[in-house]
Amino acid sequence: MPDIVPPPEPTSDAGDAAAPGLSLIRSEADLAALPASERIRYRLVGADCRFHANDNISDYVRPGETEELKAEVAQHMQAVLRALVIDTDSDHNTQETAQRVAKMFVDEVFRGRYQAMPAVTEFPNVTRLNELMIVGPIAVRSACSHHMCPILGRIWIGVLPNEHSNLIGLSKYSRIVDWIMSRPQIQEEAVTMLANVLQERVKPDGLAIVMEADHFCMQWRGVKDLESAMTNSVMRGAFLKNPHLRREFLSLLSKKTA
Ligand SMILES: [Zn+2]
Repeated sequence: MPDIVPPPEPTSDAGDAAAPGLSLIRSEADLAALPASERIRYRLVGADCRFHANDNISDYVRPGETEELKAEVAQHMQAVLRALVIDTDSDHNTQETAQRVAKMFVDEVFRGRYQAMPAVTEFPNVTRLNELMIVGPIAVRSACSHHMCPILGRIWIGVLPNEHSNLIGLSKYSRIVDWIMSRPQIQEEAVTMLANVLQERVKPDGLAIVMEADHFCMQWRGVKDLESAMTNSVMRGAFLKNPHLRREFLSLLSKKTA
């Protein structure tokens, strides 16, 4: 495992007095010597690309680098266990915990940050469907960005297509939901992100999303309120303008929930 190099300080260590943006440039050899997380961060900063917890950064991760990321995360998780004064040498339960947590973060629960969007085939709306379509409930498995505690819930999606809409297969809605939720999230931002992706793909006249979820940071810690579920909705286009359509969606949804 490579030693951890201190984070680069892009503005102060470039030496060459070039234009401000160019002060970031390093040679490929310099970059290769950095931990993968620093290389990826370097590319993101260079491209002026946001990398918040719930952003997908797959365009900046090269093949093989997620393996390096896992090794780095494992190394730091080991330091966290040490800081928690857990004797991982003699406690057989925690001997592989750092590696397990690293794998869980990178390959599983936060993979929606590192993997590209699942391939989604779109079909032109040849039969000109223009009826309200509801997909759900779709299982939501996420984690809150504040505490990294699980968020478990359900989501319903209402689509009012028009003749120009692209239709996507029902199972693809679940895959897109999973891709967006497999990141540290904030529920309000998650539903907005999902709405943006679906709006762009499907181009419907109306789009409605309702998400209802349990936040384990409210149950496991903090107020320890076991009953607190959070519900968020996004209504766009026809769902915003037409109260009848909105009512139809919500009433069908409550029947499905019952
Ligand atoms: Zn939280």
